[in-house]
Amino acid sequence: MVYENPDQVMIGLEVHVQLNKANTKMFCGCTTNYTDEEANTCLCAGCLALPGTTPVLNEKSVEYAIKIGLALNAEISDETDFYMKNYFYPDLGNGYQVTQFDKPIVKNGHIVIEGEDGELNVRIRRAHMEDDPGKMAHFGSIEKSTGSIIDFNRSGMPLVEIVTEPDMRTAKEARRFLDKLRSILEYLDVFDGSREGAMKADANVSVYLGTRVEVKNISSHKSVEKAINYEIMRQKDAHRKGKKLVQETRHYDEGRNVTISLRVKETADDYRYFPDFDLVPLYVGGRVEEIRAAMPELPDAKRERFVAQYGISDAHAKSLTSEKAFADLFEKVATKVDPKIAASWVADIVKGELNYRDLPVTKCDADDIACIIDLVGCKKISEESGVTIVRTMLDDGGKPDQIVAAKGLLMVGDDFLATAAKEAIAENPSAVADYRAGIEKALNFLVGKVMQKSKGKADARTARELVLKELGE
Ligand code: ADP
Ligand code: MG
Ligand code: ZN
Repeated sequence: MVYENPDQVMIGLEVHVQLNKANTKMFCGCTTNYTDEEANTCLCAGCLALPGTTPVLNEKSVEYAIKIGLALNAEISDETDFYMKNYFYPDLGNGYQVTQFDKPIVKNGHIVIEGEDGELNVRIRRAHMEDDPGKMAHFGSIEKSTGSIIDFNRSGMPLVEIVTEPDMRTAKEARRFLDKLRSILEYLDVFDGSREGAMKADANVSVYLGTRVEVKNISSHKSVEKAINYEIMRQKDAHRKGKKLVQETRHYDEGRNVTISLRVKETADDYRYFPDFDLVPLYVGGRVEEIRAAMPELPDAKRERFVAQYGISDAHAKSLTSEKAFADLFEKVATKVDPKIAASWVADIVKGELNYRDLPVTKCDADDIACIIDLVGCKKISEESGVTIVRTMLDDGGKPDQIVAAKGLLMVGDDFLATAAKEAIAENPSAVADYRAGIEKALNFLVGKVMQKSKGKADARTARELVLKELGE
């Protein structure tokens, strides 16, 4: 598709993904599950880069990189190798980062996202393996810090860096790309996106085919969107004022919503890339087909299957498959009740209530949801009460039947409603007169009175039918 791009905004992303589900770090046996541990406790001589230690490559991290490559519709290099990227920083024990150079394990892929203007194909230039340095915390803001402390627990974490072509044109597209990527990675079960620092993006932005600026290390997708919007505005403003932009690396300050210059951009030469003499070239060609055969169903494929198999709308299928756990919950519920009704309950109600409370899907039990849908289906409770049960389960726990009893949610019977309809008509002669004079609203008023008498525990359609019957219609 040819993109209308009058503003000539170009955005390319470099996304660092922590393979935190690989169990052990990239070159040693230390755990990747360090988030709840005390600083500087998940360490060994290897990931601290003490002299005399040698790396042993974690096979899982290679397998995960291949899985990611296949999911990005990319080529997997048969032969790949590691390089030393040299620079000084206090959180980098080795004085170099182990990374890849001209033979990345993954190249030439793409994923399709929802663009401003229909489907947008975002090309993936490459994805390579590398290790994470430790983590620094600065006292105060980064540019005026009076001191820093280092936690090496993160040092040696396996990472995959995914580099796109500059195919995105708006901050929103960049955010959608990241959302989609995160969803794919979670489906692959290579990382847990909820862990701190699991996914970080550098956003490269240029306008009017001018100089590109890189905004580094932005941790939330929302911040990426804000940082890019700020950068587009700043660059356009510079153009308007005839100011020259320099190719540089900037930092996004979340609190102030601005980007600030960190350093003038270094080139590959500055890093003195050398082959890592501790690590031999890696031949992975033989494993690719076996890994391909074991690939899980990915979001797009699942979405299409849901529409075809369950006859649900594409919007529901999209919402349900954005997170694998939701998709699984839906499928479990759909084995017990009508899939279309299951889709609307899980996608519209359950998902909304969970998001509102910032709770994970694991808080919901498929049997409970199916039970609520059944109760509504056989008119034992109103739809509104069904929502009340979902909310109560999430807030206070409990089972649907218990909540129905405790809150007295069982709907009143038709006998009660017939009496209530008679009463409503007797008590509101002017509304009856209005109705007979052809004012439709008066009917709703009478039905409302019946619902009031039932304290909301009546089926509105039945109430309406009974009012009409009592009016002699
Ligand atoms: P480097 O190797 O110096 O980081 P690359 O050319 O490999 O630079 O590109 C890094 C990132 O910058 C990629 O994500 C790419 O899409 C993006 N990029 C390249 N050119 C531009 C541009 N003109 N505008 C915006 N992003 C760009
Ligand atoms: Mg870069
Ligand atoms: Zn270690």
